[in-house]
Amino acid sequence: MTISLAPSPLPLAPTKIGIMGGTFDPIHLGHLATAEAVRENFSLDEILFIPAARPPHKLGKNITDEIHRLEMTILATQSNKFFRVSDMELKRKGLSYTLDTMNELHKTFGHSTELFFIMGADSLADLSKWHAAKELVAKCHFIATTRQGVDVNFSAVEKFFGAAAKEHIHRVTTPGLEISSTDIREKIRSGRSIKYLVPEAVEEYILREELYL
Ligand code: ATP
Ligand code: MG
Repeated sequence: MTISLAPSPLPLAPTKIGIMGGTFDPIHLGHLATAEAVRENFSLDEILFIPAARPPHKLGKNITDEIHRLEMTILATQSNKFFRVSDMELKRKGLSYTLDTMNELHKTFGHSTELFFIMGADSLADLSKWHAAKELVAKCHFIATTRQGVDVNFSAVEKFFGAAAKEHIHRVTTPGLEISSTDIREKIRSGRSIKYLVPEAVEEYILREELYL
């Protein structure tokens, strides 16, 4: 049985919003712990989880039906009043460019709302190759999350984005949870436990819907 939960409506006028994008296939405690740490660190009003329809770098790969990924994201975030889920990228379909998402969010919330896009520090090195990268960095903030002991070459990023990098690209050390969706899918496929890697409600959903077998 599929639980039908409507995605939360977008809020009216918060001022600082964190954006956690991903395929969330499935969402796991690494995503959630990181989002919560960033929220506190940057005093964000809330975190918006936005499951991606089909990110350009995952074209051709097998991605679980968006209905399931959306439901799991809703279930995982329900117990945190600062977390919300938006299906805007799923509704848009096709390629999900962060620029389109940020433009849409600015339209919804007004341009005085500051947007903080949260990403793993490893992705920071690729940011210069993103669609309209400079426009994107001028428009919103990026928070690169690093684990303790992991070094990121920030000078190349600063060189490419110039002054905007200092103002709009931030780094933060978050509790490093060695969890990935790939690993979770692999564990399920080989009959191993995923307890304490995903919220209980997500584990139950995966078992009930027989995902990743
Ligand atoms: P996959 O293994 O399928 O690539 P994933 O675990 O990397 O999945 P994504 O949905 O691709 O999850 O990631 C969404 C965002 O969350 C990305 O910015 C990614 O860097 C970040 N992220 C993924 N896993 C972790 C983790 N364990 N801790 C902190 N951030 C993470
Ligand atoms: Mg990934």
